Amino acid sequence: MKPTDPDLPIIGFAAWSGTGKTTLLEKLIPELTKRGLRLAVLKHAHHDFDLDQPGKDSWRLRQAGANQVLIASARRHAHLTETPQGEPSLAKLDRRALDLILVEGFKHDPIPKIALHRAALGKPLPEVRPEELLAVASDVPLDLTVPQLPFNEIGIADFIEARLAASSPDDGAPQSAAPLSVEQARGRILKALIPHPHHQTLPLAHCLGRVLAGDLTSPVNVPPHANSAMDGYGLCGADLACGQWQLVGEVLAGHPSPRRVAPGEAVRIMTGALLPAGVDTVVMREQAVEEAGVVRFGAPITRGQNVRQAGEDLAAGTVAIPHTTRLRAPELGLAASLGYRELTVLTPLKVALFSTGDEVQAPGEPLRPGAIYDSNRVTLRALIERAGGEVVDLGILPDQQAAIESALSLAAAECDLVLSSGGVSVGNADFIRNALAALGTVDFWHIQMRPGRPLAFGKLAGTPFFGLPGNPVAAVVCFLQFVLPALHALQGRSWQPWRLKARALEPIQSRPGRSEFLRGIAEQDANGQLVVRTTGPQGSGILSSLARANCLIEILPSQGAIYPGEAVWIHPLQGLLG
Ligand code: AMP
Ligand code: MG
Repeated sequence: MKPTDPDLPIIGFAAWSGTGKTTLLEKLIPELTKRGLRLAVLKHAHHDFDLDQPGKDSWRLRQAGANQVLIASARRHAHLTETPQGEPSLAKLDRRALDLILVEGFKHDPIPKIALHRAALGKPLPEVRPEELLAVASDVPLDLTVPQLPFNEIGIADFIEARLAASSPDDGAPQSAAPLSVEQARGRILKALIPHPHHQTLPLAHCLGRVLAGDLTSPVNVPPHANSAMDGYGLCGADLACGQWQLVGEVLAGHPSPRRVAPGEAVRIMTGALLPAGVDTVVMREQAVEEAGVVRFGAPITRGQNVRQAGEDLAAGTVAIPHTTRLRAPELGLAASLGYRELTVLTPLKVALFSTGDEVQAPGEPLRPGAIYDSNRVTLRALIERAGGEVVDLGILPDQQAAIESALSLAAAECDLVLSSGGVSVGNADFIRNALAALGTVDFWHIQMRPGRPLAFGKLAGTPFFGLPGNPVAAVVCFLQFVLPALHALQGRSWQPWRLKARALEPIQSRPGRSEFLRGIAEQDANGQLVVRTTGPQGSGILSSLARANCLIEILPSQGAIYPGEAVWIHPLQGLLG
């Protein structure tokens, strides 16, 4: 193999056949691309391998004597070339578009390698020259002089990422000017935040949508006593042989019966009524024949049936609602069922919000020439409040450094987070950049995503700051990807994207290497399968299309154009937008 660019990392994998190398690489590749790495794979094949097929036009042209054939379409191309010297050349790879080359096979070539080992195969470690062995991934503990990794894609990806970071000129983190993947940017943001939740106690009726501050434990058994789950007849399940039961009374919910029920006796009992002493089994009314004070049953009886046991829902002392749960109708009902009249919830985070731009005007007055109405402040306020924040509205700031500086320093002192929109795109950002630099540390990030590539993130006197793009849809997409997780983190709550797989109903154009978020409309098709189409034109200023969308379609950096029928991720918007 010809040497490659010395700056382009290359890592090989050595394994006996049967180890599951390709299966592991199949998982490792998406894991690495998710972390923002652009990969090529060099795969060894037997020397007569051919992608081409006899009889195909390209095959016939090669047979006719063309040493190289480039089969190309708008979507992909393959360069078929004879290598009589027996040496594949890495120069064929487009190195500008790569961060890493993974090599499968070529075990005798002097490249750094990770050896893969699985105990079940019963083989020793694959042979690798010691100077080339970087690490061993195995499913059993081994005595090694190199790092041992777990036999899974996460452990290996962590190792590769750390190795790339260690060999890059800075501390491994891309420079602020270098593009970041969505995950990288989110990871950096979450790392920079320190949770600082505050509490307040509120009556139950004011707790809807608030976040529970501590675990809510049950002070009692729920239900407190064994009771009937049916309208029917209560009897002792140890005494089923008698075949008929003498009726000795009736027990209604809320009216416990003091009388003990003896063997051979039964009581009529209603749903929710406490089981009298001696009763542990209930037969539903529909299975009973009652005649002259005697009851018989037309179905087999199992001891204990149709009874709600004491503590069956919740035992006294167990956690009924875990801390950081957002309180909705069922949680509020549950708290009431435990006897709570008020709850300790998180105090909403204070979020300072402002729009920037000389052209941006508050609605209510006729538009000045060249102006647009400020929609971002309204949209963002709703998103902030839905996420458990309280807005401190700083209005619209002109494109002037001094005005922005004074608003920012006030906001940073008073609030838990500062959020702005506009003024972060290239060529537009200088005044805001200078204002931010004067007050704290802020990076302008180029994120590999669309919409919403430019994002400013930093701290102003310890208070986190987000500068969102001005385009209304980009501002919302960035909010959902970065600010929402940050608000969760500041409240000490975990956050996970909620994604579902759906089949695309139409072709979707996307550029590999970046995450694309499109406004989508998802629904079930006739077979109950989730399918999705876009809302149409995707300009990042078209807010009306976000109003029509019920999901965002996420096209991953590793995906190119999507064809109808292909699976894509969708992020349901239900519950996120207000
Ligand atoms: P900027 O990021 O400031 O370059 O703005 C990008 C685009 O978003 C421009 O077309 C702005 O006019 C528009 N824009 C900026 N702020 C707002 C806002 N608050 N509401 C609606 N559109 C805005
Ligand atoms: Mg602007």
